[in-house]
Amino acid sequence: MIVDCCSAPGLKPYNEALEQILSSIVPIREIELLPLEDCLERILAEDLLSTNILPPWHCSAMDGYALNSGLYDANRPLTMVGSSFAGHPYDGKVNIGECIRIMTGACLPADCDAVVMQENVQLKDTKIIIEAMVEPWQHVRKAGSEVTIGEIVLNQGQRINPRNIGVAASLGLSKIPVFRQLRVAIFSTGDELVPPGGTLLSGQIYDSNRYSVAAVCKRLGYEVIDYGLVADDKEKIKAVMLEAAAIADVLLTSGGVSVGEADYVKPIIEEIGHIDLWKVAIKPGKPIAIGSIQQCKFFGLPGNPVSAMVTLNLLVQPAMQKLSGMELIPATIISAICDTKLNKKAGRRDFQRGTAYTGDQGNWHVSSTGSQGSAKLTSLSQGNCYIVLDENCTGVRAGEKVNVQLFDEVIR
Ligand code: AMP
Ligand code: MG
Repeated sequence: MIVDCCSAPGLKPYNEALEQILSSIVPIREIELLPLEDCLERILAEDLLSTNILPPWHCSAMDGYALNSGLYDANRPLTMVGSSFAGHPYDGKVNIGECIRIMTGACLPADCDAVVMQENVQLKDTKIIIEAMVEPWQHVRKAGSEVTIGEIVLNQGQRINPRNIGVAASLGLSKIPVFRQLRVAIFSTGDELVPPGGTLLSGQIYDSNRYSVAAVCKRLGYEVIDYGLVADDKEKIKAVMLEAAAIADVLLTSGGVSVGEADYVKPIIEEIGHIDLWKVAIKPGKPIAIGSIQQCKFFGLPGNPVSAMVTLNLLVQPAMQKLSGMELIPATIISAICDTKLNKKAGRRDFQRGTAYTGDQGNWHVSSTGSQGSAKLTSLSQGNCYIVLDENCTGVRAGEKVNVQLFDEVIR
């Protein structure tokens, strides 16, 4: 068996590492009442109980005619005596032999219990002849059928999405309680790095990590404090770390966490804070420094861009989400037929990048995005999933089934 050369003893298996990271996180508790318009991606701080019923009254689900099904005589035409339009109810009586014109969303008059769709009716002047059976409550949305008083409509810890915003608005809420925003400080280390837009000299590359890391934090609804690029200089890195740790809940850096001569991040944290975990048995992403500086959680991401994104997504994101008060949602894992042969050494858990799709027979397939070098960002941006290969897997033949973890809505 070929064993992964980077799978040295002391690497923590992924599941254990994640458990350890999460167990050290105590969620923030400060709550703010925010206008609904500002709540997208924020975390709901309390269960939201409905104080109203929905719909507030019986209303029509169709454009047509409202009548009383119990008094209706199939052999007699009905006389139209009024109309109920959305926002303009009909307040009068509806007697035997009568109906009213009604539109979708309009209030059902007190004497009526059914709506006949206009497609099933012949209209002659002010009279209608119904060409179908009439059942009580047909095409009526009954008062309270959607939501009752006291019902939990949104749960504490939910990340507010556009659908949740709609629910809160439909109940008439203009503000909802959310946890305060997480403050995340970021910087990149590396003397070779130049911000996009600059000119590259020999040996330089563009800083991509700070931009992808900031984008993830913005998607998560966090406030990002960007300290830019910091040179490979121990004192400079230390100074920025101390400044950031004093104001942020989380500090995310990239680069300098390995054992190279310019890799200062780990020794600095050991000096000004502490490291809880350093190496995780995953590929890409082995060297990731996890710890804290005073009350600030610290995550030193690897410099290689794919490793930085993958460790951010798989290890740091759950930790930040727990810290932000969010209820964690397990990843979506599906079983798929692998179209491509995959190389893998025993030791670490691989998160290879792939493209999952439904095949002609309706079952899931996945194909590799190609070369899996941890510097090759396009292998990540072109895919839509991780092909998850467990620690003891030693490769996959084309046509074999594999576990696929679809990219979540944050990095998708
Ligand atoms: P390091 O962990 O600092 O040794 O970096 C590992 C590799 O990732 C090196 O090839 C770096 O040039 C590259 N790298 C480090 N930081 C970044 C960054 N912010 N953006 C793009 N590449 C980076
Ligand atoms: Mg570096």
